[in-house]
Amino acid sequence: MRQYLNALTAVFYPNVCVHCKQNNVVHAFLPLCFACASQIRNYNNTETEFKVPQTLTAVSVSVNSFCALWYFEKTKPVQSIIEHIKYGHNPQLAKQIGTLLWQHFEAHLRMLHIDAILPMPISSLRKRQRGYNQAELLGKTISKQLGIPLLNASIIRKPQQSQTRLGRSHRFYNTEGAFCVKTTAPLASKNILILDDVCTTGATLEALINTWEKNICKTIHVLVLAYTPLQ
Ligand SMILES: [Zn+2]
Repeated sequence: MRQYLNALTAVFYPNVCVHCKQNNVVHAFLPLCFACASQIRNYNNTETEFKVPQTLTAVSVSVNSFCALWYFEKTKPVQSIIEHIKYGHNPQLAKQIGTLLWQHFEAHLRMLHIDAILPMPISSLRKRQRGYNQAELLGKTISKQLGIPLLNASIIRKPQQSQTRLGRSHRFYNTEGAFCVKTTAPLASKNILILDDVCTTGATLEALINTWEKNICKTIHVLVLAYTPLQ
């Protein structure tokens, strides 16, 4: 019912830029006006050679490749988009941005021969509140285009404090034991793509990968919508 009401709201709500809340949305793919869209900084994947950036201090586990679409910057349009995806009850936007991810990374993803996508799990409580897992929706187009499954029931996230308002150091403690494994069978000897909206310290990523046995996957690749550079 709530989802239905939210969908109705989206239809009747004025089409304004989710960042400046002033101009009409004119961008073809993003809920931003041109002025706000032009502020987005693309992440330079070729500069990092698709490797995990050194500033992701937590990621000591082996990740074969890492890529991001944008840089995440506080109070900037990317933050507004992500907040809108997470808290704006707008599953359609998450799917739309997922299509953008596919268009941007198609060649890279095809080259990796991914077998399955593992969207970053959220707790069942959060999923009920939000109505969806945004990472799962971000992966819809990639899953469909590559004909591979979205593993949304293999790993469970326990209820936890939101990471958003925690500082870098607190995130490490908050993510320890954050997940539990239901089954690792779909991961065994597979090329897995972990998908998330934002990556800040890599603590959540590390906690997720540490949930299963070392080397169970053939390769682990990470794709995030936005990466937070160290200030
Ligand atoms: Zn704007």
